[in-house]
Amino acid sequence: MTRKLLVTSALPYANGSIHLGHLVEYIQTDIWVRFQKMQGHTVHYVCADDTHGTPIMLRAEKEGITPEALIEKVHAEHSQDFAEFLVEFDNYYSTNSEENRQLSGNIYRALKANGKIATKTIEQYFDPVKNMFLPDRFIKGECPKCKAKDQYGDNCEVCGATYSPTDLVNPYSAVSGATPIRKETEHYFFKLSECADFLRDWTRSGTLQAEAANKMSEWVGEAGENKLSDWDISRDAPYFGFEIPDAPGKYFYVWLDAPIGYMASFKNLCSKIGLDFDEYWKKNSTTELYHFIGKDILYFHALFWPATLEYSGHRTPTNVFAHGFLTVNGEKMSKSRGTFITARSYLEHVKNPEYLRYYYAAKLNGSMEDIDLNLEDFVARVNSDLVGKYINIASRTAGFIAKKFENKVISAQHAVIDDMRAAAPAIAEAYAARDFARALREIMKLTDAANGYVAEKAPWVVAKDESKTAELHTICSNALEMFRLLTIYLKPVLPNIAEAVEAFLNIQPLLWTDVALGLRAQTIQPYAHMVTRLEGKQIEAMVEANKESLQATTSTPHSQAHHAQSQQAATEVAAVEHISIDDFTKVDLRIAKIVSAEHVEGAEKLLKLLLDIGEEKPRQVFAGIKSAYDPATLVGRQTVMVANLAPRKMKFGMSEGMVLAASDERGGPYILSPDAGAHPGMRVK
Ligand SMILES: [Zn+2]
Repeated sequence: MTRKLLVTSALPYANGSIHLGHLVEYIQTDIWVRFQKMQGHTVHYVCADDTHGTPIMLRAEKEGITPEALIEKVHAEHSQDFAEFLVEFDNYYSTNSEENRQLSGNIYRALKANGKIATKTIEQYFDPVKNMFLPDRFIKGECPKCKAKDQYGDNCEVCGATYSPTDLVNPYSAVSGATPIRKETEHYFFKLSECADFLRDWTRSGTLQAEAANKMSEWVGEAGENKLSDWDISRDAPYFGFEIPDAPGKYFYVWLDAPIGYMASFKNLCSKIGLDFDEYWKKNSTTELYHFIGKDILYFHALFWPATLEYSGHRTPTNVFAHGFLTVNGEKMSKSRGTFITARSYLEHVKNPEYLRYYYAAKLNGSMEDIDLNLEDFVARVNSDLVGKYINIASRTAGFIAKKFENKVISAQHAVIDDMRAAAPAIAEAYAARDFARALREIMKLTDAANGYVAEKAPWVVAKDESKTAELHTICSNALEMFRLLTIYLKPVLPNIAEAVEAFLNIQPLLWTDVALGLRAQTIQPYAHMVTRLEGKQIEAMVEANKESLQATTSTPHSQAHHAQSQQAATEVAAVEHISIDDFTKVDLRIAKIVSAEHVEGAEKLLKLLLDIGEEKPRQVFAGIKSAYDPATLVGRQTVMVANLAPRKMKFGMSEGMVLAASDERGGPYILSPDAGAHPGMRVK
């Protein structure tokens, strides 16, 4: 049966560049969409830039351009990045569109007619310097629950609490730094509190991953509990967005019209290719609707969005699929470490987008767990799996087909080929379940079997024996049939390579049904190498470049301001948890005198220090401060070191402690100095 699927990825916010954290989701969605298309289903994959809200308004103001000019520029940049990562949207649109204005207005009117809109006078923070009401994300302060500092006005990144900005302790305006004053204003609310029964059923009806359903259940509460608050959907001018119908000076909050942007992008596609919009969005539609999102925006997609759809007379999503965040080398992406890598800089240095697609796919299992991009493992895996195993099958056999058989293959048959065909349903099942990691494990097993076949048959030996020409022809044809089958299985992940293979084998674009149809006796094209090895130095250059580009772009702390729709916090706010004094005293901090400091042969960032902390013999410590200090200027200085850190064997020798230094995207590292009078070995406490 041909299914009709409408698929979306979350809308990237139009005030920053796409980075490798964002790409987890777009690559995940794209692989799934390509897989579904290969099954012969009708699939539409739409997305858009999320363009509204205060951050866009303020950034445009700062750049001296209109918000429209800003979002147009960013749209071009985003579109280019996605295209080069082979993320193939059927439509990539903008939430600042006429379709979206109309749909947002219509949905609002329908909710209102349904008794789901209320107005309420609230007290909100107002920036007396900037003369504007401060939306949630532009007020910072201490979390009312866990007291973590520098939290945004809508939710806490440390404990995950959501609250209203007026709950913050010691608030300040993130725009001007001024202490905001409270001022009354009338706001529009969506009565989410009246949707609890619907949401309780909806979130537990298989629409969410179990983990997500549990979390949403907690938020919704049991029957009789009243846990959901009404949702504030308006903002006061000045605001970049859509004015609310019949409410001059009041604008839709960006999160009201952002998900409607999925519909608007699809509506735009409908007008381009003649689809029936209502068939996909009417109540009880038999089409399927899937949203891929990051786990940080579940609340919006699993509560607000289905309720908005339900009570405005639309269908609700078939599934919302949430994924985890990206870490790089086991840590949060970091500007100072150069691991906050933009899509553009990856393309400049690594070039081949399919390496990253393959690596992400190998890590994505359909759960909400975070995935790690370990850069060393990335290089090793790409080279081993793609170059060493998969492509190797063709590169070791295709030459004989060209040289000895005038590029003609014969029809193939072998037990390994039968096994490969038999694996198709299991691989398809894994793809469909978004367990790409399992799909690739299965595929790599088959790849090993194919390589085993080639190694065992040793065509390079057989080729030397003139009497075994027929056997050689069979071996190489069989190997290429194995290669063709593997290409079908890998095609959702590696669309460019698959296209090159299709050209090489002289065949039509591969579909999943081609598994059953073998490579026939035919002429193929001469083999040309399809993938090159990834070099570690490309990765090093990329990491270095991201350190540099950082200094060039550190314009304002809000130029990359964290926005709820973003996949991952752009700012590197440390997750501060409280520790007890006992925890603190476990760290033995000592005043250290730098006895000697020198460059380390072959180390890019390290200086070798000898530190006197009043012990018999100075400690040797390797410190990553070479970028900021000339060793000669350090000798004789006092600083602070951690003296009870377990000694660590490094490439250049033992490091027997750690020197403390401050840094963030504004600069550093800066080492510390005690006031005069401190002596080597004194405890810092
Ligand atoms: Zn908190």
